[in-house]
Amino acid sequence: MNYTDPHPQSGPKIIPRPEHALSRADISNNALKVLYRLKKAGYQAFLVGGGVRDLLLKINPKDFDVVTDALPDEVRALFRNCRLIGKRFRLAHVHFGREVIEVVTFRSSADGIKNERKHSDTGRIIRDNSYGTISEDIWRRDFTVNALYYNIADFSIWDYTSGLQDIASRTLRLIGDPKTRYREDPVRMLRAIRFASKLNFQIARESSFPIRNLGVLLKDVPPARLYDETLKLFHAGHSVNSFEKLLEFDLLKYLFPHTAASLKSDKNGNILRFIRKGLENTDKRVQVGEPVTPMFLYAIFLWQPILDYAKKIRAEEKLSQIEALLNASDDLVAEQQNHTSYPRRFSTPMKDVLAMQLRFEHRRGARAHRLLGNRRFRAAYDFLLIRAACGEVDQELADWWTNVQTLTPVEQRKAFSLQSKRSNRHHSAN
Ligand code: ATP
Ligand code: MG
Repeated sequence: MNYTDPHPQSGPKIIPRPEHALSRADISNNALKVLYRLKKAGYQAFLVGGGVRDLLLKINPKDFDVVTDALPDEVRALFRNCRLIGKRFRLAHVHFGREVIEVVTFRSSADGIKNERKHSDTGRIIRDNSYGTISEDIWRRDFTVNALYYNIADFSIWDYTSGLQDIASRTLRLIGDPKTRYREDPVRMLRAIRFASKLNFQIARESSFPIRNLGVLLKDVPPARLYDETLKLFHAGHSVNSFEKLLEFDLLKYLFPHTAASLKSDKNGNILRFIRKGLENTDKRVQVGEPVTPMFLYAIFLWQPILDYAKKIRAEEKLSQIEALLNASDDLVAEQQNHTSYPRRFSTPMKDVLAMQLRFEHRRGARAHRLLGNRRFRAAYDFLLIRAACGEVDQELADWWTNVQTLTPVEQRKAFSLQSKRSNRHHSAN
């Protein structure tokens, strides 16, 4: 057997508090409150998932997930600030201002989930079929390092799958037979890439080699879910890493097929350089806490495919350069919806940002001057800088737009070759 096959029957390895490094001081107070209250009411309560994993790795967890043997209604009864969500499987969100602690009841294995679906059709949920024990709950975890349970009763860690060993060797390993687990949920392939990128972990050989063959299963995942996962891959400060790994495993084509295709014909590496630069820029922003937007991310990925397509339709349909770009942008955005959805509130401003790339080339006149006041100017200018940094446009052009922003209004009018206001007035008086 060459994969981790946890044997719930044999029970977990229990690591007592003095023998592990997870300290209560690092757990959010709100998560602790939830854990303690559940425990006080007589339930089992564990911290699980990314919270435990990240604390053991000394990184700041994104959020804290709690599992318990209390049923959702029982959880709700304990907390005033609690909402039950989810149709197929109910779970509790306990709200503390902006922090939400997710509390999930132990679930039984995949079988149980099937049963539950059958029952919920008739509106009836049978406890024994959908809810389980902690030893069944591990089967709805993906990687061994995500299946460590921190027990609030005695601060021990329960490890069913040698997750601690994998933390120590920085290995990402699926629980169970990798092929089966990827088939159950193909998004786990993207999660493997995401965690490997975020944590700088190696994907275990047996968990990594099926990915190339099974990647095609991502075609059946709803675009909305792939969109969520895409943002997690690229908006968490490790986007360059994620990108490299998606290429390595040939998965980019399921998220951005046109980008992947243009990379295939990228003889001198310019497109690759451009995307890397754009992603480096995104990572830097995340690292210093500046906001990032899907608009910019998609602009980076779709720019080359849109340019190529614009060139094609311009020749065929005799359009102006800008018309061709706008049409190409519409068509590719529409097509992209089949892969990773792209909400209109981001795709519309993206079109402006891309069109401004052409407009930046004209530096004279009122139209060029007005670009400075355009609400997308900042994003479009950042995009221009990335293009310049990898030689797609002259650095001189980018420098000109950098410089013009520092001028006084009077100097700006001169830079754009506009008549001064006074001579304008004079002009209209005549
Ligand atoms: P982070 O919050 O840092 O992104 P995480 O590990 O907490 O990482 P979540 O998506 O928040 O990831 O999920 C919480 C836990 O639920 C995971 O650690 C894992 O145990 C389990 N889980 C989530 N999604 C899946 C999935 N698709 N397949 C199997 N287990 C999953
Ligand atoms: Mg989490």
